[in-house]
Amino acid sequence: PQNGPRPVNGSHTANGALRARHRAAARPVAIVAGGAGFLGSHLCTRLIEDGYRVHAVDDFDTGLADNLDHLAGHPDFVLMDHDIRRPLPRISGVTEVYNLACPASPPHYQDQPIRTATTSVVGTLNLLELAHDLGARFLMTSTSEIYGDPEVHPQPESYRGCVNTTGPRACYDEGKRMAESLCYDFVRQYQTDVRVARVFNTYGPRMRLDDGRIVSNFVAQALTGRKLTIYGTGRQTRSFCYVDDLIEGLVRLMRVNPRPEGPVNIGNPEEYSIIDMAHLIGRLTGREISLTHDPLPADDPRRRRPDITLARRLLGWQPTVPLRKGLAATIAWFAGQIDAGGVMPSS
Ligand code: NAD
Ligand code: UDP
Repeated sequence: PQNGPRPVNGSHTANGALRARHRAAARPVAIVAGGAGFLGSHLCTRLIEDGYRVHAVDDFDTGLADNLDHLAGHPDFVLMDHDIRRPLPRISGVTEVYNLACPASPPHYQDQPIRTATTSVVGTLNLLELAHDLGARFLMTSTSEIYGDPEVHPQPESYRGCVNTTGPRACYDEGKRMAESLCYDFVRQYQTDVRVARVFNTYGPRMRLDDGRIVSNFVAQALTGRKLTIYGTGRQTRSFCYVDDLIEGLVRLMRVNPRPEGPVNIGNPEEYSIIDMAHLIGRLTGREISLTHDPLPADDPRRRRPDITLARRLLGWQPTVPLRKGLAATIAWFAGQIDAGGVMPSS
């Protein structure tokens, strides 16, 4: 793939026109399923900046067309309203298929569990078949949730996980596990060029105010003078990656040669307790905060932290944005959303 912003000039001469046509012919073309979501919209932006033609595919289940407003009308950007549980139209010239289509927030993915499970299983199958048909590379965004409530800490890719197959998180966890299985079945059966990213908790601008995950809840609550909702004791841990770092990791995984044999963890290995996050967000918003304790959701993992040895070695990747800096940018984004009258979380 070409790197750097696509030149906008250069077609004023005959040679320039030829070069422009050649560039267009050689230009990489990506499908981004889930392109209107939090991560997907950032990925679309990044790929357009890198000179790609981008087809975003989304059914706006949790995604918002607003997330892609800045790309509307761009000559290299197409947005398609489509549910990936149905087969996709054949888009010729596609060189890369990214699958980010799936709600990621527990309240959202548990709201319609059968839809969540089938989006991961049937939707991923449809996208894999498309990638195979087009001879395109395929990147699956799997999740740290496939490790479940882990007995091994931090989690390396070799750890096989501890998931409750019948609990309320299973639609997401087991859906993603099956999606991973399908990916490697396509490698074995068709030699499809498949890459699997196991994404750990990621935050940043364009998360929805009513997303329901910890960062959006705590920031929205702190900025509006409400109590921060701590589920359980708040001693459970997570490790938070800023969106720009995450997107860099996905792009590197898609482009690296040779194809990594198995999944690669993409996340920030700095681990925080939920209580620590509440206090940090309080300090960074400059508000006096108070806490309230709600019940711990069923099967909520007690700890989570990625081992990113493989990403460092294979991709030369590691996070660069410190939590305070990433949170400051995120708080500014949410403040703008609140000023604009955005929909708040229910608690
Ligand atoms: P998100 O909910 O903001 O985005 C998901 C997008 O997929 C939305 O735009 C939604 O409308 C779309 N979508 C859902 N079902 C669809 C369907 N059947 N057909 C077409 N589009 C559909 O979530 P996100 O945080 O951007 O997550 C993106 C991907 O990354 C997901 O696959 C998620 O599992 C994975 N992931 C995210 C995180 C995180 O912390 N953000 C962590 C682990 C894994
Ligand atoms: N959490 C919390 N209060 C909230 C939202 C989340 O205490 O308002 C906790 C939740 O129980 C979990 C952690 O924060 O232990 C991360 O939750 P999130 O929904 O962000 O992601 P996930 O559980 O999928 O990692």
